[in-house]
Parts: sequence; C-alpha cells; structure tokens
Amino acid sequence: MSMYRTRALVLKTRNLGEADRVLLLLTEDHGKLEAAVKGARRQRSRFVGNTLPFNLIHAMFFTGKNLDQLSQAQLIHSFAVLREDLVKMAYASYWAELVGEFVPERENVREIFRFMLAALITLEKSDTPELLNLAFQIRILNYLGYQPELENCVSCGDGSAVVQFSPIEGGVVCRQCAADLRDLIPVNRADIRFLIALSATDIRKLAEIDQTGVQLGTIRALLRRFIEARLDKPLKTQVFLDSVLA
Ligand SMILES: [Zn+2]
Repeated sequence: MSMYRTRALVLKTRNLGEADRVLLLLTEDHGKLEAAVKGARRQRSRFVGNTLPFNLIHAMFFTGKNLDQLSQAQLIHSFAVLREDLVKMAYASYWAELVGEFVPERENVREIFRFMLAALITLEKSDTPELLNLAFQIRILNYLGYQPELENCVSCGDGSAVVQFSPIEGGVVCRQCAADLRDLIPVNRADIRFLIALSATDIRKLAEIDQTGVQLGTIRALLRRFIEARLDKPLKTQVFLDSVLA
C-alpha cells in the first residue's frame, strides 16, 4: 500500500454502506478523485468535520484496490461561511457539480484547483456573487478547452454580422447561417464583449467590467444552455440555485 499527500478541496460527500463516506475531491497534485473515509458516520471526530463540502484540507491517502482511502485531513481553511449562507452555498454547490462533471478523473488540473480556490475565497467575501458565477462558468469551460466561439460565426467563419448564439454549435452565428439553425439565443455586441471580458478579468475586479447594453439574463441563459449541450443534461444543482435566487 502506498501513500500520497496533497492539498484538496472537498466537492461533495456521499454515504457508502453503513458507516463509510465517499468524498469527491479536487486535489492540487492528483486531479479530481474519489476517496473513502472509513467509519466516517460512526465517529463525530474533527476528521469528519474537516471534510465538509468546500473545505480546503491537507489530505493524506492510502492507495486502495478500488477506492483510495483518506487517512488524514488537516483543515487549512473552512469555508463555513459558504455553508451558512444559502445563496453562497447554492453557488458553491453549482460550481462543485460543474467541476465534478467536466473535469476528468486523475488528470493534472492544478490551474483549475488554484482557480477554484481563488473563486471560493472571492465568493466568501462577495456581496454580488452573480458576476463571479458567470465568470466561474466561462473560465472552467476555457480551462478544459470547451470555450464557446465568440469571434466568428461557428458555421461559416464570417465575423462581420454575428447576431445569435447557438448553444448546440458552441458559439456565435451570423445572420445568414442563423436561418438554418434552431434553438438560438439573440446576442448583441455588448453581450459578446462582456463574455470575453468575463474570461479575461481578474475575478476580484469583475464589477469594473462595462455592462452598458449587456443583457445579463441572456448571458445566464446562454451559459446554462451551452453547458447543458456539452454535458447532454442539466446540472442538478441548477434547480437549487434557481429556487434560492427566485
Ligand atoms: Zn455564418
């Protein structure tokens, strides 16, 4: 049996059998992985408290046949604030599901780990998490190579008259090609500029992005449907997020 250590963010926990728990973790050095916590539900230990969702821990694992086992979890930062605020919890849960669905297991995703940690810290202090949520989605898509095409028409490559966005084709569409496509979302120049700015701006300074003429509802719908089209299903936490924001 070998062991390894790394920093990790707890994305999700689920019960396994009578007493155990399985954690989905985003780790700094070993990518996204699942690990078992033996007897987690029998003990009310600090160890268990340290592995609550969104917490940042120093983790030590033993490799197992099927599932590696988490043998130590030292708390580096508790994101209790995110678990106690319903809106922030809804955003963090949505992010955790997004990362859980899109990030392949055991691949080196150190950039995503660091970005997600920075985003959770920013969310903790944020009074206006909506822009952060939009930026989070587009940045995760960019990191994983799923970025939507925002310059030229995805059908013909022409960049002069893009007026619609196709979630299924994965980008903007010109007036002519739009006639042959379904399920399009009308976008204006300001929306496209805003989406590009969301990818490029420091997440602590999103409020500085010019929002003149931007239709935030359109941006929300566009990202949601783009993500659903990539995954072929909606995210479960989207319903929770919608109900909290309503
Ligand atoms: Zn076109």
